[in-house]
This record gives sequence, structure tokens and C-alpha cells, in this order.
Amino acid sequence: MENSETIAGTSLENPDGLHKDEGVLHQVKEANKEDGKEDSGISSEDQTSKEQYSRTVKELDSQHFVVQSDKLKDPNICLDAPFYCELCAVKLGNLNACQSHVKTKGHKKVKKTKGEFFSLLRVAPPSEHQILALNTLLDSVFLKHGLCPVKDFPTRQEIAKDVGKTVCDKFPECSVSIYGSSFTGFGLQESDVNLDLVIPDEVDVPHVLLSILDLLRKDEHYCDVKSEFDAKVPRILFKHLSSGLVCELSPGNGTAFKTSCLLKKYCDFDPRVRTLAVALRYWARICNVDCQAEGGLPGYSLALMVIQFLQETKPPVLPRLMPYEAIDKDSPHASENFVSGNKEEIGSLWFQLFRFYCVEFDIQNLVISIKDSIPVTRESKRWGHRRVAVEDPFSSKRNVACSLSSDRAYDYFFTCWKNSFLYFSSLPQNGK
Ligand SMILES: [Zn+2]
Repeated sequence: MENSETIAGTSLENPDGLHKDEGVLHQVKEANKEDGKEDSGISSEDQTSKEQYSRTVKELDSQHFVVQSDKLKDPNICLDAPFYCELCAVKLGNLNACQSHVKTKGHKKVKKTKGEFFSLLRVAPPSEHQILALNTLLDSVFLKHGLCPVKDFPTRQEIAKDVGKTVCDKFPECSVSIYGSSFTGFGLQESDVNLDLVIPDEVDVPHVLLSILDLLRKDEHYCDVKSEFDAKVPRILFKHLSSGLVCELSPGNGTAFKTSCLLKKYCDFDPRVRTLAVALRYWARICNVDCQAEGGLPGYSLALMVIQFLQETKPPVLPRLMPYEAIDKDSPHASENFVSGNKEEIGSLWFQLFRFYCVEFDIQNLVISIKDSIPVTRESKRWGHRRVAVEDPFSSKRNVACSLSSDRAYDYFFTCWKNSFLYFSSLPQNGK
């Protein structure tokens, strides 16, 4: 929409039938005369001009980002002019100058590139009532779809134990441990069970994998046992009959196991971490961006996004831990005594999470990193400028979100993100 036309239209609505520019000058004169003060003796003509003036100012604000200086929220901007263009960072002396300014090519060009960002910046947070409703919604999503510590955790641990026993009976030097969302608690109830097969260096990996494949096929507790040995990481997939859970057994998940330990550590600091992470995974499922094999994001990259956000809230909900020290039980820093001063409700944090990656965090240029307190640029890692970049806390060369590999998938993901930010805000938005 060509917004300058709307502004001009507003001026032309002058009931005196004045020329457009004369109309504006008249409004400015009237407004200056009134200087913002209402008078009981004000004539109806004055009142019309004043209303028109207010309408024009409102439209300049909502459509062109030209605001009255006393409404500016940024305290760093000098208030020695009555109007200010937020897009061009230009001070403007009067309404006439504002109307000329918004018609300039320069302003229109900046509006095209920065307009959406500034619109998002103005989006109002949810009201108290909305936050209460969000609290209830997020709690129910967590209860309905998250892993239950009493029911789901023991079932998954039991599967890991049973598979471990099958493996160890034949290969006592090998072991099986659970990792991923079944371990951290960031998963959904139907999330796969990730099992790490630890095989000592001297043991022949293909031989062990083929033997285990055979053992699982013969075991009546499992069905749909199949191998994917030509995958990037060779793995065995099977279904645990009594729970119906799909399990994935693969060797060489040492780093993923460490990441799981670190995520669990963060999870234990504050119950809001798990609720947010589970809700975001559920959100990703609804938006269909959670399937890594189909170009979506792996579940734990979403958990890392939640953690980085919670480290950046003011005051922070989570500390920034040194990854290796945090998971080392013998390290003096392993049990950091962090108590958060942040008492925000979960509904408010949910909205702020979406706001954070829309307007606060420079997602185009920065890497989501839970270990570095100074911003990590994509340039420093040569990870390009599009798509989501999430650093593996134990392997800084690895972008765990690299599965979101196409520009279209990124655009879709970010559109979902922006729409959710708007959806959970206060409506109407219109910059008010
Ligand atoms: Zn401008």
C-alpha cells in the first residue's frame, strides 16, 4: 500500500476546502496555538482541525513510523524536535515537514527494508488476562504432550536396560545408555527413544551391529527391527512392543550424550525451562518443522534456542555454564549455586521467546550459542547468513540446525515464528 497517499488523503478531507498544503499549514498553526491543551472555550472549527491534526499524527505514526518526540520510548534519542522518524533516525520540525519526509524516496526505501522489523518492534505484549490464559495453555500442553517423570521416564529407562542386557549378554565389553529427549525430559510422549551403543575401539563395529540386529529380530519384546547401515551414522531401528515406542540404537553418540547431560543440567535449574522447551517442540510439530529428515530442525536445537533465550532475559532465568565443567561431577563448578531473580510467568516468557528471535537477537548474523556470553558471529564460523545457526555446545564447528538446509524451509520456519509472535501478542497491534 502506498501510505503517503493515505496521509495526503487525510489532509484533503479538510472541510474548509483549502488547498492540501494550506490545509496542513492550518492544522499545524492550530495545533501550535493549542499546544496540546484542551480549552473549554474551544470553537467547533478549532475542534475539527485538532481532531484532524491528531488523526494525521496517528497515521504518520502507525504507517510511516514518524512519531511525536514525547512518545519516543528510546531515552537515547534527543528530544529537541517535535517529531522523529524512527526508520531514518531523522528529527522533524513540524507536521508539514513530516508529510514531505514520508514521501521522499529515501524514507520509502528504508520503509521497504526496515518497516517490518520496526512493526514487530512495536508489537504489544499480551495483557494480564492473556498471560493467565497462556499459563494454563502451556501447563496443559506440558501435561498432555510432555514426558511424565512418573510414567514415561521409567518406561524409557527400562527399555534402555533391557536392550543393554541383550547386548551385554553377547558383548560384555559394550554398553547401552539412553540419551536425547528421553534423558533430558525435553521430548514429547511419542518421541523416539535414542540409545547410544558404546563399543570399545578394539571391537569390530560392523560385527557387533549385525549380531545385535539378529538378536533383536529374535527377541519377542521387539518388532519392526530394521537396519540403516548406509546412513551417516549406522543405526538399528525397532519398536518396543508393549510401549509402542520407536527406538534407535547407534554407536558414536558421545557428543550427543554430553549435550543431553548439559541440557538436563539446565533443565534442573528451573521448571520453566522444561515447560517452554516441550511447548516449543509441540509448536514445531504443529508447524511441521520438527522433522530433521525432512529438512526441519532436530528437537534439541529448539531446546538450545530456549536455553539461550532464558540466559538473555533480564534478569536471566538461567546461568551460562561452561559445558565440560558443568557435566563433570568432579569439577568444583559442576553444581553451580545459581538462583534466578527472574519471576516472570511462563505465559509471559513464552511471548518473549518469540519476540527475542524476532527483534532482539540478530538471527541473520549471529549464532545461537549457550556457552559464549559474547555474541558469536556466523562470519567467524563461515556459516552463511540465511537459515538458523545453532552451535553444538560440545562441538563448536557443528551447526546442529544445519538440517534446515533450504532457503524456502528457513523462510517457512521464520514466517511461522513471526506469526506466532503476533498471535500471542495483544491485539490490535497497529503500533499502539
Ligand atoms: Zn524516514
